[in-house]
Amino acid sequence: MTSLSDSVQFIRSVGPKRAETLKKVGLETVKDLLFYFPTRYLDRTNLLSSAKVIQYVANGYEGEVTVIGEVTDKEILRFGKKQVLKVKMRDSAGFFECVWFQGIKYFKNYFNLNEVYAISAKPVITRYGHLQFAHPDFDRLADTESTEFKNTGKIIPFYRIPKELKSKNIGELSLRKIITLAVENYIHLVKETLPPSLVKKHGLLPIGQALKNIHDPESSERLKAAVKRFKFEELFYLEILIALRRTTLKRKLKGHAFNIHSAPIKKFLESLPFELTKSQLKVLSEIKKDMLSGQPMNRLLQGDVGSGKTIVAVISMLIAIFDGAQAALMAPTEILANQHFINIKKLVNGMGINTALIIGGQKKSERKKVLEEIASGKIDLVIGTHALFEESIKFKNLKLVVIDEQHRFGVIQRSKFIEKGVAPDVLVMSATPIPRTLTMTIYGDLDVSVIDKPPANRKEIKTVLTGEKKLPGIYKFIVDKAKEGYQTFIVYPLVEDSEKLLLKAATTHFEELKKTYLKDVKVGMIHGKMNWREKEETMKKFASKEFDVLISTTVIEVGIDIPDANILVINDAFQFGLAQLHQLRGRVGRSDKQAYCILVAKDEMAKRINKFNFDYEYLSKTEIEKYKTLIRLNAMVKYSNGFKIAEVDLKLRGPGDIFGLKQSGFPDLKHADIISDSKILFDAKKEAFAIIENDPDLIKPENQMIKNHLMTNYRQNLKYSQVP
Ligand code: ADP
Ligand code: MG
Repeated sequence: MTSLSDSVQFIRSVGPKRAETLKKVGLETVKDLLFYFPTRYLDRTNLLSSAKVIQYVANGYEGEVTVIGEVTDKEILRFGKKQVLKVKMRDSAGFFECVWFQGIKYFKNYFNLNEVYAISAKPVITRYGHLQFAHPDFDRLADTESTEFKNTGKIIPFYRIPKELKSKNIGELSLRKIITLAVENYIHLVKETLPPSLVKKHGLLPIGQALKNIHDPESSERLKAAVKRFKFEELFYLEILIALRRTTLKRKLKGHAFNIHSAPIKKFLESLPFELTKSQLKVLSEIKKDMLSGQPMNRLLQGDVGSGKTIVAVISMLIAIFDGAQAALMAPTEILANQHFINIKKLVNGMGINTALIIGGQKKSERKKVLEEIASGKIDLVIGTHALFEESIKFKNLKLVVIDEQHRFGVIQRSKFIEKGVAPDVLVMSATPIPRTLTMTIYGDLDVSVIDKPPANRKEIKTVLTGEKKLPGIYKFIVDKAKEGYQTFIVYPLVEDSEKLLLKAATTHFEELKKTYLKDVKVGMIHGKMNWREKEETMKKFASKEFDVLISTTVIEVGIDIPDANILVINDAFQFGLAQLHQLRGRVGRSDKQAYCILVAKDEMAKRINKFNFDYEYLSKTEIEKYKTLIRLNAMVKYSNGFKIAEVDLKLRGPGDIFGLKQSGFPDLKHADIISDSKILFDAKKEAFAIIENDPDLIKPENQMIKNHLMTNYRQNLKYSQVP
């Protein structure tokens, strides 16, 4: 009992064999045990008696419940070849049963007669009127625990038991016992990891007390306080990393200060068929300010699909080019890169600007020539896909990089790009509206500009959800509208693993529709298996109205801009994610005409979804899990605003998934949730930024604790914060 790095074997009841097993799951030292947190707790607030549960179910309750009972009987029932394990239990209010259809032997051995277990699951009432739980979660309780629990309301922690432990007979009871002993004997050795001034200022529990209450809560208030402390700590260090990255970008990287040559810019603006909106002008002036300054720009340009980000990017690139530098625009797909290339070439026609396209699959000889011209500086403006990252591309004088639809890239790749030139200005564009909590915190190293209004001439897209049986009517609508000059996308989903199969589906539909419902209009097809020349050819034809209808897989998802395409049909819409659906919808409604987005699902599903009325504010986790698909489609019909859609998406998927947190080089969050803990996040951010502002290299004595903690716990992440 001398140090936290003692082997777990120092704990009574842990011998060499158990120590070996614990080590396998990462529990090697006493410290590992202390920081192995329970995944949930049993307390009186989420516990019901069996009688209450029956009442709940009768009243239509569909959620999960927890009951505690003692095993009275167990039996295996046989129905032909099938077996069912039934474990019968009772609590003071009555009887209930648990059933398993799989793993029968294992569960039969696990449940012992007369022992006490906590059971959590969704309850059902069988046709014999029994209260039943199928494949429930369960935890064994020691005798003393269950009496204490009943008598004093003691909160019981439950730890995840990895299968390596289970197989060596270290179950809930044993692990709980081991950790309890570790807490009793070692907790006084744990050192504070947050500056004491912060602990005091924010009323946090000191680390020892917090740990004690995590494993053995004195009360639910104390438990809450303990949880809050670890959330704060985690977010504080996350924000320290972000603050470090920000100062590195601002202080240590040298950027370029552009001179603005107004005359040619003015001429360019006059050549446009429209005037820039107020929103566009506002973001442009923010970008200009960055470009004029000697610090490298690191700006996020946000704007819903169709809000007109491209032209802003083009003007920024022209500023760089007129000042004698090179600019690069990177797009996430070949089609989009190609579209940008064609459109931008047209826009800058006659201005003496040399453009080049870099995408995969170009001919070697062609590529070689382009590369030489980029290296010699002959090319001013390079547009491409991630192929732009390739080592073989050398720029003569790259000073501005624009990255379109950044959520596909992640931050690490971006920093790779920075290493190529001498910290060029970077502008990332995204249609994914990142909630303010995130831009202020996780993206705290980015400056943000928002195009908050689309060009004025736009009408709201009409979105409907219908069943498949309405398809003939939809085809008729498409044909009628074609006479008015409307063009249509018909999208089929493409699930990764079955690409070939679904491709066939799109092809089959194409052949069939051409002969039947769509025989009076011109139909084209595009899909991911085409090479880029074929895709380019097809998109060109669609843009020049050689087709009225384009049958497509999701290759059209991002950024494609065809002003007369104003009807979008998405088949099997339930196959798509919400952000993806919104991106797809952004392909229409890009002019002053009324646009339509028609989501098609199975008839039954469509009926259910249209009847559904969600209150998105109050969806519980279980409901979200259960109704995911319905919620996605319902949200699409209900909301056309990208910010609203993003909010719902955030609830469905969590932020890590959406905003590439995982690729960003920042640590995974174990305790905190960026959205629901945003208050703590703001506090942590304020403190972290203040500290780094004051002491960017963490050399002051009072910050040594922070520095040490970073070095031991966040070494990997520090790399991305580029701290020497
Ligand atoms: P996104 O923000 O989705 O990238 P785009 O830049 O592709 O949107 O712009 C969508 C469409 O709006 C394009 O056809 C573009 O020419 C047009 N557009 C952009 N700015 C304006 C404006 N100020 N007035 C009218 N139309 C505009
Ligand atoms: Mg775009």
